This record gives sequence, structure tokens and C-alpha cells, in this order.
Amino acid sequence: MRVAFLGPPGAGKGTQARELAQEWDVPHVATGEMLREAAAVGTPLGREAKGYMDRGALVPDDVIIRMIADRLRRSDARKGFLLDGFPRTIAQAEGLERLLKDLGQPLERVVYFDVSEPELLRRLTGRRVCRACQTAFHLVSAPPKTPGVCDRCGGELYQREDDSEATVRNRLGVYARQTAPLLDWYRGRGLLVTVPGEGPIADIRRGVREAARGTAA
Ligand code: AMP
Repeated sequence: MRVAFLGPPGAGKGTQARELAQEWDVPHVATGEMLREAAAVGTPLGREAKGYMDRGALVPDDVIIRMIADRLRRSDARKGFLLDGFPRTIAQAEGLERLLKDLGQPLERVVYFDVSEPELLRRLTGRRVCRACQTAFHLVSAPPKTPGVCDRCGGELYQREDDSEATVRNRLGVYARQTAPLLDWYRGRGLLVTVPGEGPIADIRRGVREAARGTAA
């Protein structure tokens, strides 16, 4: 299984990717999580990335492509991978295509999560994330059993710095300008499958499962 999840911030890519990567027994490669970890630890990469992330801008393509190349060359990615939040620009998609050609492991499917903009805003501004296991909750529609505490691992829930309303609007604009062109790019290569990203999480998961295995449209 070699799949990428594509869609705007708040579309539910991470929520579905965490479960499905386990189910498919492939590494969940989430560039946003990798960058947040690097920023929290304070590595040179993390320090460079943080300024872009805090404003809701994209980290430069060459930095991201290098990070992904290192990750996908690791042995656990030989059995497949689930890319979440990458690629986000045409240049990244081209870099990925070259890398996977070198590795002899072409991408099999790109699953696009289709969610309306008002719903994205609602999800992102109410989102709370576990610091330890990254599970996402929503203050209103998916609250944890105990406020501020992760149901899954007991970790502390926090609001991502880039989930404030002003930064969310910026991220949605960046998505529309820089990432949405990838839909046509992958459609043209026969890899794109669209999945409705609204409704119960379990129904969406079923759709994603079928899309990842089924035929591209
Ligand atoms: P995410 O967790 O996917 O919403 O990503 C959070 C932030 O990390 C983004 O707003 C970007 O600043 C940065 N980021 C994550 N993935 C990428 C990528 N593929 N290219 C550039 N920047 C990225």
C-alpha cells in the first residue's frame, strides 16, 4: 500500500491516517507532525520550520523533500507508506515522483478528502490535540470524556498554535493557492480518488478504505 492523503487542513487526513496506517501495517508519514516534533526538540530543521508554521505558511520545498527522502529510504517504508500532508505543492509532487522512481516504489493512489470551507473552519478552531499521541478531539462535536485529557492515552490536550482563527484563514488560502492545483496534477496521472470528508468518522473511514484499494476516478 503506497498512498497519499490530500486535502485542506482540517479535512480529517490525520484522524483517518493514524488508524488506517495501523490497519495496513505501513508507516504513517505526517510531515506536519515531523516538523512539530523537530520544532519542540529545537533541531536546526525545527527552528527553521517554526517561523513558517506559526504564520500558516509552507516550509520551503527543498527542506521538505529532503526530510521525506530520508524518511522513505528507511527500511520500514519498503513495505509501503501512508503520506499525510505531503505533497503540498507541484514541486513536492515532482520531487516525490523522482524519489519513488529511484526507489522503484511508485505511488498507487492519492485520496482526496472533500470538505466544505465552513466545516473546515469549525473543525480547526475547535480542535484540541493530544501532546503525546496526536489524537485529535473537538470541543463541541468530539469532546474528550475528561476536559483537557486524551481518552486514548491520558496525555494533555492542547490547541495547536496555528489553529487560531487568523492563522487558519491563512492556511486555507495557502491550500487553495499552492496545494489545490495538485488535484488536477494527480487526476491527470490517473491516481486521484475523491472521498466525501463529512459525516461520521467510521463512514468516512469506510470510504477511504475503498478508495485506497479501488480504482481511481
Ligand atoms: P499539518 O499538521 O499537516 O497541518 O502541517 C502544519 C504545518 O507544517 C503547515 O501549515 C506547514 O507550515 C508545515 N508543513 C507540513 N507539511 C508540509 C509540506 N508538505 N510542505 C510544506 N510545509 C508543510
